[in-house]
Amino acid sequence: MDDVRIDPRTSSVRGLWDRVLEHVRRNVQPKQFDLWFRQIEILDAGDGSVTLEVPNRFFRDWVNTYYRDEIAEAVALETGSPCEVRFLVKRDAPVPERIPSRPPSAPSDGSAGRLEVRPALRAPLMSTSQLNPRYSFESFVVGPRNQVAHAAALAIAERPSELYNPLFVHGSVGLGKTHILQAICHATLERRPETRIAYITCEMFVNAFISAIESGGLKEFRYQYRAVDLLVVDDIHFLAHKDRTQEEFFHTFNTLFNGQRQIVLSSDCPPQAIGTLEERLVSRFRWGLVAEVEPPVFETRVSILKRNGVRFGVDLRDDVCEFIASHVTTNIRELEGSIHQVVNYARLRGRPVDLEAAREALPHLVNDPRRAASLEDITRVVTSYFGVKVSDVLGKRRTKLVTYPRQISMYIARKLTPHSLQEIGGYFGGRDHTTVLHAINKIGGLVKAKSEVRNQLDHFLTVLR
Ligand code: ADP
Ligand code: MG
Repeated sequence: MDDVRIDPRTSSVRGLWDRVLEHVRRNVQPKQFDLWFRQIEILDAGDGSVTLEVPNRFFRDWVNTYYRDEIAEAVALETGSPCEVRFLVKRDAPVPERIPSRPPSAPSDGSAGRLEVRPALRAPLMSTSQLNPRYSFESFVVGPRNQVAHAAALAIAERPSELYNPLFVHGSVGLGKTHILQAICHATLERRPETRIAYITCEMFVNAFISAIESGGLKEFRYQYRAVDLLVVDDIHFLAHKDRTQEEFFHTFNTLFNGQRQIVLSSDCPPQAIGTLEERLVSRFRWGLVAEVEPPVFETRVSILKRNGVRFGVDLRDDVCEFIASHVTTNIRELEGSIHQVVNYARLRGRPVDLEAAREALPHLVNDPRRAASLEDITRVVTSYFGVKVSDVLGKRRTKLVTYPRQISMYIARKLTPHSLQEIGGYFGGRDHTTVLHAINKIGGLVKAKSEVRNQLDHFLTVLR
């Protein structure tokens, strides 16, 4: 993005916003677009962020929850760099007394039409047309760290209220909680389009509750949330320290549970760790299944990257995926952001999406000392290159097939990690430091003598650094 601050009244900012809107328009239903995007004004753009003005707080919460990523992605496409989106509420704008009482209506065509809630529900917050169509089970990569949550979610979509009620999915940010929750909604509606679903973030539940109290619309509010078949509340940890909403949610929960309706919740921590959450809610949240999503293992990260490549129309090379997957380990959103950056970087320069482009587009990964390769990273990359098992390289076997990958791993470990010879020996099958020294000398000699070994090493160091 331009370094120079741009005067919001100049045509370049407007021009940028117009082009962003064109991208957004392609991904958002026309009626949603009219409802939410026509009232947004761009105030400023520059320094990796755009500032947008919205009419009121409710509007800001809604757009921030459902469209921020969409906008950020479109700005990044236009400017070629990642972008933070900020919303400012128009000064002195009146806060709406009531939430609009009709749902943003559904499009008349195609898949998203399926997602409309039955008219009887009349609740804008329940319109599942707000679901991100990308968050489906089909696009969700299952690995050992999320398979319990995934299996439970699938089971719920097939047989709601029978197996796990509530389902409580927790884990830190960017690990697929929202994706899983929305996939349940999509799949449920595909199987039983008549299901009445309320999907809402806890923040919006809290805000809607406050608005309902202020405007005297509590009865209607209650009806909206207690007359559904499936209640899905994202980020329920937001209930922390909100006594009155907790009380309200407790009754909502009981009504639905007693009526054998399915409840699905997500949180950034387990129920008992949510600050000042009433004990009776903690215990209810644990009645069903509590499933954690954890940071994905290397192979899952690579699969997710490949899938994202396909999304951007690129068949990503293994070394590019391995490079990113070795460095970005704890957040899937960041994984997606990285691949997005690399593809944009290469495209804007008319270059192939290769390792060199990846390293240039993501310099913070290359230079960040905290992200130095670990012994696990090294073993993973080397064993996958040679097609041998990690357990063999870390074990006692001494066949040539595993000895060479083990020795080269030790050599790289000495180069890239702060570990001592003893530590490295210990990691690779409990060997002593002289074995490590021997490996280092041997590989060092081969690097000098053989170009093939030099090339292999180059490859490993590039992927791992
Ligand atoms: P959370 O709600 O836990 O913060 P999200 O559900 O918003 O995380 O996920 C962040 C991003 O990562 C989303 O774009 C989502 O589609 C993607 N994502 C997360 N988990 C997976 C997965 N297992 N397979 C594919 N994409 C995933
Ligand atoms: Mg989320």
